[in-house]
Amino acid sequence: PIPSRTVSVRIMNLTQLVLASHNAVKLKELQAMLGESVQLRSIVEFSQVEPEETGLSFVENAILKARNAARISGLPALADDSGLAVDFLGGAPGIYSARYADGKGDAANNAKLLDALKGVPDAERGAQFVCVLALVRHADDPLPILCEGLWPGRILHAASGEHGFGYDPLFWVPERNVSSAELSPADKNQISHRARAMDLLRQRLSLK
Ligand code: IMP
Repeated sequence: PIPSRTVSVRIMNLTQLVLASHNAVKLKELQAMLGESVQLRSIVEFSQVEPEETGLSFVENAILKARNAARISGLPALADDSGLAVDFLGGAPGIYSARYADGKGDAANNAKLLDALKGVPDAERGAQFVCVLALVRHADDPLPILCEGLWPGRILHAASGEHGFGYDPLFWVPERNVSSAELSPADKNQISHRARAMDLLRQRLSLK
């Protein structure tokens, strides 16, 4: 029989994970999604320095951040890397989503995206939010657990909605007929790219 990754994970006897993120809100959100049997600890307990994200893909950057957190803390580590991939732009802004407009912030990022898609019809405005979670048992783990969550939608022609952050006001959610900034935070957390990736992780860790 094909060896099951789930079984190999079960014998890890995982009770604590360091989360490779300096964002306290993200820690809270991911802890709620993960459940109580595994405790997430913040990388901030161990270091204030964030590693340079030198990868070319979400997967590479998530692994790089997880390895760094495991090295610094001596604990198994979880990292996430996320962003928006727009079909018409060949997947841009992708891993550069946070700094698309050279670090000028969410409003500038959204304005740049609208500009890049000026005149592009709805049928060609497909996009997806992407979240990759990487879990390493130790810094040199040759077999990281990778879980990818994709949330498909479409880029609107103008911003709509007040909730969320980043590109949420421009992201149309077909299954709800609203922008993702019009979803309540609780609703978004049920269906988002992060929720989808975390669902897979819970399965891989036999947590459900
Ligand atoms: P982070 O590294 O997960 O904080 O996200 C990278 C960037 O991707 C953010 O700064 C946002 O621009 C974008 N992004 C990721 N997830 C979301 C989301 O759920 N809504 C809106 N924008 C997001």
